[in-house]
Amino acid sequence: MIPDPNDAPEEPVFRWTSYSITHVLDCIADPRKNRIIVELSDDISVIFPYLNAVYPYISFNPGANAVTVRRGERLLTFYPRTAIFAKVDGVEDAVAQLEWFRELCLETWERRHTITPSYQPKSMLGPLDIYRLLPQSNCKQCGEATCMAFAVALLQGRRTLQECPPMHEPAHAEAHRRLAELLGGPAG
Ligand code: SF4
Repeated sequence: MIPDPNDAPEEPVFRWTSYSITHVLDCIADPRKNRIIVELSDDISVIFPYLNAVYPYISFNPGANAVTVRRGERLLTFYPRTAIFAKVDGVEDAVAQLEWFRELCLETWERRHTITPSYQPKSMLGPLDIYRLLPQSNCKQCGEATCMAFAVALLQGRRTLQECPPMHEPAHAEAHRRLAELLGGPAG
């Protein structure tokens, strides 16, 4: 029997045409910052397992069908048709974060055929994940009292990996590569 081409499964489509910021609130944890709620024009969740597979700094909660990314102090969570941002600096900053994420989604979708999507839950990157890869000598050359304090500052986007001189020694080359990969997106 000749298969009917109409029976072929439909290729999923990623579409995200626009967004609208619906709420700008004070952040409970930090009144200088904003909590912002955004309505998305389309269901963007088809991209989540691809983002989960490719970017170590993006967490994935399959139960809630949400991805979360920390960028500096900001915490950006995307649901299929909604985004909730914490600790952003007003509307302009929220728009910059939305454009960054939309660009990341489009670029990832472009090369989806080279990616095996992951549906496994993945937790947020924490200070311990960073600390484990630092030299752990508490040498203070970075200006922080301990490597753990530096790990927290890295996660919050207040410091960069360049500011830890021992990380540039050959002995830490692999840890440096891994850290750069983990921190690839959070700055910004
Ligand atoms: S410079 Fe690097 S090794 Fe030294 S305390 Fe800072 S993070 Fe730790």
